[in-house]
Amino acid sequence: MEDLTQTAAVTSLIEAPDVVLIGSGIMSATLAVLLKRLDPRLRIQLFEVTPELAREASDGWNNAGTGHAGICELSYTPARDSEGRVPIGRALHIFEQFEHSKQFWGALVAAGTVGVPEDFIHAVPHVCFVKGAGDVDFLRTRHAALKEHHFFKGMTLTMDPAVIQGWAPLVMEGRPPGAVAATAGDGTEVDYGLLARRLCAWLAQQEGCGVAAGWRVTELRREAGRWRAGVRCAASGERREAQAKFVFVGAGGGSLSLLQSTGLPEAAGLAGFPIGGEWLVCDAPAVCARHEAKVYGTTPPSSPSLGAGHLDLRRLNGRRQLLFGPFASWTTRFLKHTGRWTDLPLSIRAGNLGALLRTAVRNRSLVRYLINQGLQTMEDRLRAVREFYPNARAEDWRLVEAGIRVQAIKSADRGAIRFGTEVFASRDRSLAALLGASPGASVSVNIALNVVKTCLPELFASSEGRRRMEQMLPTFDTELREHGNAALFEKTSREAEERLHLTRRSGSYPIV
Ligand SMILES: Cc1cc2nc3c(=O)[nH]c(=O)nc-3n(C[C@H](O)[C@H](O)[C@H](O)COP(=O)(O)OP(=O)(O)OC[C@H]3O[C@@H](n4cnc5c(N)ncnc54)[C@H](O)[C@@H]3O)c2cc1C
Repeated sequence: MEDLTQTAAVTSLIEAPDVVLIGSGIMSATLAVLLKRLDPRLRIQLFEVTPELAREASDGWNNAGTGHAGICELSYTPARDSEGRVPIGRALHIFEQFEHSKQFWGALVAAGTVGVPEDFIHAVPHVCFVKGAGDVDFLRTRHAALKEHHFFKGMTLTMDPAVIQGWAPLVMEGRPPGAVAATAGDGTEVDYGLLARRLCAWLAQQEGCGVAAGWRVTELRREAGRWRAGVRCAASGERREAQAKFVFVGAGGGSLSLLQSTGLPEAAGLAGFPIGGEWLVCDAPAVCARHEAKVYGTTPPSSPSLGAGHLDLRRLNGRRQLLFGPFASWTTRFLKHTGRWTDLPLSIRAGNLGALLRTAVRNRSLVRYLINQGLQTMEDRLRAVREFYPNARAEDWRLVEAGIRVQAIKSADRGAIRFGTEVFASRDRSLAALLGASPGASVSVNIALNVVKTCLPELFASSEGRRRMEQMLPTFDTELREHGNAALFEKTSREAEERLHLTRRSGSYPIV
């Protein structure tokens, strides 16, 4: 299989596409492959502004690579209800969405579409670590609630420092005595950038499909029942137009300006607010060899869910590294590579100014959090690392820029911020876009499925379409979380894990 991972410009422009996708990140790449496998006759054109593919948020260095499944992220089980129970609905939802990803990737591995799974996915324990009597009690209640459900039955809880030391020695060494607790479950680490490039490589080889890197989509206009995408070659300045019945805007931070160019009334009140990211990275082999987990902690009371720090083992380009973060940074750019400082000011319109201002007023704690994060020194950041890894040495860590999240803000939300991802669809279902930033990559398959269900349901209306969909996503129309479906979950999950070479440990985590 041709690997576009290292290639510079890939340019292939096709005539008369049925579908145009904008961006080569995990969203467009996933949807493109799902569509082509559902209907091999579809003509699909994908445009990417940068000369290389998937170098924005989806690139391995720009996100944490967590396969979000609600195992270790406390933000999916935020607070106790009035009866003292921890609600687990959101954790079940994200877990099920991630099962779709595993099923789809497993099917693609089996079909030889994306190469060997070890290149882009690894099993890694997802550990949630807390300290202090209150948080220990919360974690115990959370574990009790999750453990009752078949999704989480392999999750283990301990309050024994020696066991936690076995799971994550760096977290315990040098820690003053006190109440601690941790849960561990079978999680994953994913290189979404590499996966997106593999998906694009496959697409580029299919008949009637083109992947054009180095081409910016400059505007989208609706005329005579079709979308017209104005495109410009970044290198030569050449301009062209592509027409299609259906457009997917998977342009990450570039999506807002494209939606604004459509003139669609439903896009009028949309605004975006960029939040830059930074990681501390440790390359020291002796340290990296001693951490075999993704360890998430609590979210500090002053910060939004994206403020929860985590100490992660990462395996990018065949190297082991530790990554801690993310830290938020100030930016007015919407994209790391092709963004400009004018992105934010130029996105402001009469129709969205009110929504932006209302959001700032209603979310003063977020504004304060962002100001504080932007003012942090290296010493402040190291202090945050030492909450997780008390013996961390300053000389082992370097600061790197992560991806930019553009938080979608809608007038209808009346100033409330939803840290999530959602599909925007035009009223006539001829255009869809992805809004929001997190936990996007993990749920990219579920998002692509929802785009097809909402906008192109005819693709699996026939028995052949349904058969093809079931081959990729055996449970695409079944609620795996329902108790009656525990056996089906076990079967489909095992099958996907086998295909992805993910070994389940269910409690017997390695002592590092
Ligand atoms: C700091 C951080 C940590 C994260 N951690 C995780 C995590 O652990 N797990 C997880 O699941 N998710 C995580 N995410 C979220 C995840 O990275 C994103 O949801 C996901 O990568 C978005 O994919 P995308 O394809 O929509 O966007 P992108 O990967 O940003 O791709 C958009 C593409 O569109 C291109 N483009 C933009 N404008 C145009 C244009 N006009 N014409 C042509 N091309 C254009 C861009 O160059 C880019 O390649 C994290 C994000 C950040 C920032």
